[in-house]
Amino acid sequence: DGVLMSELSCPCRMMLLVNPQSGKGQALTLYNNHIQRMLNEAGVPHTLVITERQNHARELMREADLSQWDAIVIMSGDGLLFEVINGLLERSDWEEAIRTPLGILPGGSGNALAASVHHYSGASPVSSEELLISCGFLLCKGLVSHMDLVSIHLSSSPRLFSFLSLAWGFVADVDIESEKYRHVGAARFTVGTLVRLASLRVYKGRLAYLPATLVYNNQEHSRNNKTLHYNNQGSTPCPASILCPSRDSSCQTAVQNTFHNFCHSNNSLKVRRTESVPSRTATKAQSGPPDSLLLPLDQPVPRDWVVVQEEDFVLMLAMYQSHLAEDLLAAPDSTLDDGLIHLFYVKAGISRAALLRLFLAMEKGAHMATNCQHLVHMKVRALRLEPFSPKGIITVDGEVVEYGPVQAEVHRGLARLITG
Ligand code: ADP
Ligand code: MG
Repeated sequence: DGVLMSELSCPCRMMLLVNPQSGKGQALTLYNNHIQRMLNEAGVPHTLVITERQNHARELMREADLSQWDAIVIMSGDGLLFEVINGLLERSDWEEAIRTPLGILPGGSGNALAASVHHYSGASPVSSEELLISCGFLLCKGLVSHMDLVSIHLSSSPRLFSFLSLAWGFVADVDIESEKYRHVGAARFTVGTLVRLASLRVYKGRLAYLPATLVYNNQEHSRNNKTLHYNNQGSTPCPASILCPSRDSSCQTAVQNTFHNFCHSNNSLKVRRTESVPSRTATKAQSGPPDSLLLPLDQPVPRDWVVVQEEDFVLMLAMYQSHLAEDLLAAPDSTLDDGLIHLFYVKAGISRAALLRLFLAMEKGAHMATNCQHLVHMKVRALRLEPFSPKGIITVDGEVVEYGPVQAEVHRGLARLITG
């Protein structure tokens, strides 16, 4: 299966799952007004399935005879796709099931994946019904690409799979608190951000990650090669400088020193990497691919991980697609299957004004260019977060999950998505 893109078989038998309650409760109307005709004109026969309750789609995916379907498309917010993906990966035939081409049409209030797919198509940003129509056309084209998924381990819940984001602190609080503004559609995040800014607080915890740049056995990324070919001579900048967006010396934190020492150590990266591959991984008997980078949550992280020195945060956001919401381009250089977790964190001490500036800049994906000294961006393969407080909110793809220690590992191109 070396092919990166393929085409849906024609005619395609498509299951279209619509959540009538998502967003402003208009998904069915939007289907009737736009999508039904679009799919009919494109000659895409489809079976409409209206979800009746939370977890309905997840149960359907666990039990469906997938040989009957060429594609499963959801028309809702990101929450319904989260159910579909987890349902598919809970099957005993998960390996085959997760290869079913998936599709997304924005019908909810959190339409981040739809906005990402539109962004990857190279078109200029749009929202609301224009985004729906764009995604409808991309769906009719029927080109299928691979999409990264991230496995998520929580302390006592079963492992989950995530296609979009893992959030803690400010972003997670806004996401959940703003559900009560769902009637305003995608603007709910803007309203929520302003409300939360008024009660800005610090979240305490420990964050650790495995930098992507040190993964020796993955040679696809030129950035990796740059790191590997680095030698300690001449004026070549230390790769640690890539950790500091502003390349400002005041940004040289202990994290970067750790990274620096790592890069300059005499041991070859390959040897250290191989030595520290966990012998006993965190994966218990379960469906879905095994994790190879994670140790059980009650053990310290592997030796080659970086532990962030700060323990006071305003937010932690791990993204694997470009958009956090229709109008929030949080990870501008993310692609559908780059095999990377784009990890962002904001250190405590940032002013309300500076945080607001970050979110305003994020609309155009310009937040890294603001040179905010409190914002750190890292590309990683795995991470672990241990919040210190007993209560709080952690979200996975915008859905609340068990609060407590959490760790994640990216599985490159595990799912398939119709991207047009
Ligand atoms: P939004 O972006 O508006 O939040 P989502 O697709 O994320 O839209 O859906 C929100 C939640 O609604 C999801 O958790 C999903 O499981 C749930 N859901 C799905 N179908 C129904 C239904 N018929 N009634 C109520 N909730 C539903
Ligand atoms: Mg949602």
